[in-house]
Amino acid sequence: MKAVRTMNNWDVEKVRKDFPVLSQTVNGKPLVYLDNSASSQVPQAVIDRTSKYLAEEHSNIHRGVHYLSQHATTAYEAAREKVKRFINAPDVRECIFVRGCTEGINLVAYSYGKAFINEGDEIILSQMEHHSNIVPWQVVAEEKGAKIRVIPMNERGELILEEYENLLNERTKMVAVSHVSNSLGTVNPVKEMIATARKFGVPVCVDAAQSVPHFPVDVQDLDADFFVFSGHKMFAPTGSGIVYGKREWLDKMPPYQTGGGMIRTVTMEKSTYAPIPEKFEAGTPAIAAGIGLGAAIDYINSIDFEAAAAYEHSLLQLSLIHI
Ligand SMILES: *Cc1c(COP(=O)(O)O)cnc(C)c1O
Repeated sequence: MKAVRTMNNWDVEKVRKDFPVLSQTVNGKPLVYLDNSASSQVPQAVIDRTSKYLAEEHSNIHRGVHYLSQHATTAYEAAREKVKRFINAPDVRECIFVRGCTEGINLVAYSYGKAFINEGDEIILSQMEHHSNIVPWQVVAEEKGAKIRVIPMNERGELILEEYENLLNERTKMVAVSHVSNSLGTVNPVKEMIATARKFGVPVCVDAAQSVPHFPVDVQDLDADFFVFSGHKMFAPTGSGIVYGKREWLDKMPPYQTGGGMIRTVTMEKSTYAPIPEKFEAGTPAIAAGIGLGAAIDYINSIDFEAAAAYEHSLLQLSLIHI
């Protein structure tokens, strides 16, 4: 069997050419790269947009009144708008720039945990979580005297939903689960899992690191409370990532990091915080990476996402035949 090379809107040779890294040869053979679940390569369009920013537009954002600062701020905020549309967030202020999925989960765990998790409470994780969606919750649980409960999976690598339902109770304060498993590729039924958690009034934090590069996502359709991902697994530079959070939670959560850019007023005795998203964006952000994330979203929107998934599936079938 041959992988499908061309489909209606899918020409693999054309897509290959979008990625300059693939034009090199290694040991006399064209470079093959299959490690997208760890980090994806960067298309020329994203490199160009990031370079343009660095060459022509660089400045700190949100503070200067000069030409470049206003220009950089506009570009950065345009990227945030793209993120909002990409995940269908209701409000652009609910999209917080972070440096990656790990930082994003730490933000949610620490900030939500500080405000809402207490002794005797429970946090539900699943058996197939990435370390980045385990350790931050363990640390919060340890600090607060809370307990981690784990959803088991069956021999097909799927979460056992009846067990999940049995774990939920009035002590549950958070469900943190991956949308797609990084090791198994399992697509978890998070919409259904969120609906179940909702019956107990429990918020759900979705680790979306592996779903955003693979299929369209809609945080409103999922009804996710938190939805966290990295840019570098979806064709953006490293140092970019997003925490989407429902405003009703974010407004009630304390800052994760503090410093410049996230305050409304400061005196030596006390400071008041800026509204979201700035409240969670202390310090100078990774501006180039954020603008690059916007360009990566443009790139994803320019390709046939469904055809890409079908092609990927055909490659998987091919690899299974050759094992
Ligand atoms: C990669 C990954 C993470 C961590 O992402 P970083 O970019 O390394 O911060 C978390 N969860 C899943 C499922 C991942 O695949």
